[in-house]
Amino acid sequence: MISSNVIGELREILGRDGVLDSPEDLAVYAYDGTFAEHRPDVVVLPTTTEQVARVLEIASRERIPVVPRGMATGLAAASVPFDGGIALTLTRMNRVLEIDEENRTAWVEAGVVTAHLQAEVEKRGLFYPPDPSSNRQSTIGGNIACNAGGPRCLKYGVTGDYVLGLTVVLADGRVLKTGGKAIKNVVGYDLTSLFIGSEGTLGVITEALLKLVAKPQFVRTARAEFPSLDDASRTVNAILSAGIVPATLELMDETAIACIEDAMGLGLPLDVEAILIIETDGSDEDAVVREIESVARICRENGARAVEVARSEEERAELWRARRSVSPSLARKAPNKLGEDITVPLSAIPEAVRRIKAISAQYGLPIVVFGHAGDGNLHPNILFDRRDPDQWSKVESMVGEIFDVALELGGTLSGEHGVGTLKRPYMEKALGSLSLEVQRRIKQALDPLNIMNPGKVLP
Ligand SMILES: Cc1cc2nc3c(=O)[nH]c(=O)nc-3n(C[C@H](O)[C@H](O)[C@H](O)COP(=O)(O)OP(=O)(O)OC[C@H]3O[C@@H](n4cnc5c(N)ncnc54)[C@H](O)[C@@H]3O)c2cc1C
Repeated sequence: MISSNVIGELREILGRDGVLDSPEDLAVYAYDGTFAEHRPDVVVLPTTTEQVARVLEIASRERIPVVPRGMATGLAAASVPFDGGIALTLTRMNRVLEIDEENRTAWVEAGVVTAHLQAEVEKRGLFYPPDPSSNRQSTIGGNIACNAGGPRCLKYGVTGDYVLGLTVVLADGRVLKTGGKAIKNVVGYDLTSLFIGSEGTLGVITEALLKLVAKPQFVRTARAEFPSLDDASRTVNAILSAGIVPATLELMDETAIACIEDAMGLGLPLDVEAILIIETDGSDEDAVVREIESVARICRENGARAVEVARSEEERAELWRARRSVSPSLARKAPNKLGEDITVPLSAIPEAVRRIKAISAQYGLPIVVFGHAGDGNLHPNILFDRRDPDQWSKVESMVGEIFDVALELGGTLSGEHGVGTLKRPYMEKALGSLSLEVQRRIKQALDPLNIMNPGKVLP
């Protein structure tokens, strides 16, 4: 519990509407994108870095846990405040502070919604590529804290590849600035990278300097239908081995397709085992067209029964609407889903998919497989009813087996969603004890009182 004196102090800093502590408000801040739930003791909504710093000074003095929070779309229970304390929500720090066209950078507050930034820079012919499917609901701060990926990361890289500098409020309230507009910078340890993917455990990111690129002028998008999931998985590597780097290469299996159809009725085929969505882009229209034609040929050679290239922006948008709807559509099939985020080497995708389907058959619970197949990042989602204790105990075993598949095939536990609390028990298996010891020392150095998002990431 936080004393009324401390709540009063927070109100002095943030104003009455910047501090929420009614039971209704606390309930709203008890969730993220998983089924985990725990209420904070208080919610704060700062509007400046200085306010964040003053909140952390108090938290440090009083040893109160602080859980940074963007839009809470995270899929690892990393922004759920299991120890109560302060839910520090960045959504009011949502300004794009500067777009520097000459240096192709954007300086933003951490609470900017990703799609909003993308729209702003695209008005000027620039492009911010990282595109988590949640880009209309998640924040740049959350994307950096999870090192979010997305379909386009195959060609363009993940969020971390676009972060040039950060403003971070440390656990004791001091404000650290890292990086800058200079593209090359090897002075000292790379502190910017240290905070990328740190899931709120090392400090609060309040501002970010992001790299932009020129907006690709031409895009072509194809949908390939595969009667065999195995053929679709093999095709992924066949395309990349041919020297083509599509902007995106996404896989949806038959259960995903059925759920989307049930929810949206988009006219997807229900008699295939998989669909690949492939996009090529660039500034040379002929090259982009040639690449999509080669992709279509390789798909047919590897077992696709039909390949359609979108003829208009509307058709392209419709294809992406299907892909972006996978996750929300799964609710039609079962009340709960547990979405994993494993990565495997490209050559291992067919074997990974086969083994995941075998786990599903063994336990008798559906596992939907979709994801960013082009970079080996698969999202096996187990569908179940959490009210049924038998199903829940199966899910726990299935998750362990899915992680074993990833590790045995030379991959890892998470490509983009992060560890949070859900993957924490498997960290030692994935990283080994020395890596964990080094990570614990970093945490100890930056947050000696363990107030920053305690209990997350490190077992
Ligand atoms: C439908 C759906 C689709 C998704 N698709 C993708 C996808 O394609 N790719 C992908 O990578 N993810 C995806 N996600 C997961 C999620 O959207 C991302 O992890 C996103 O980056 C989280 O951003 P957020 O603002 O919601 O952060 P939150 O969920 O609020 O927080 C996530 C983590 O970041 C920390 N954090 C948040 N803001 C800050 C800050 N300013 N400073 C320090 N720490 C902070 C939190 O403490 C927590 O540990 C999806 C989620 C959903 C629900």
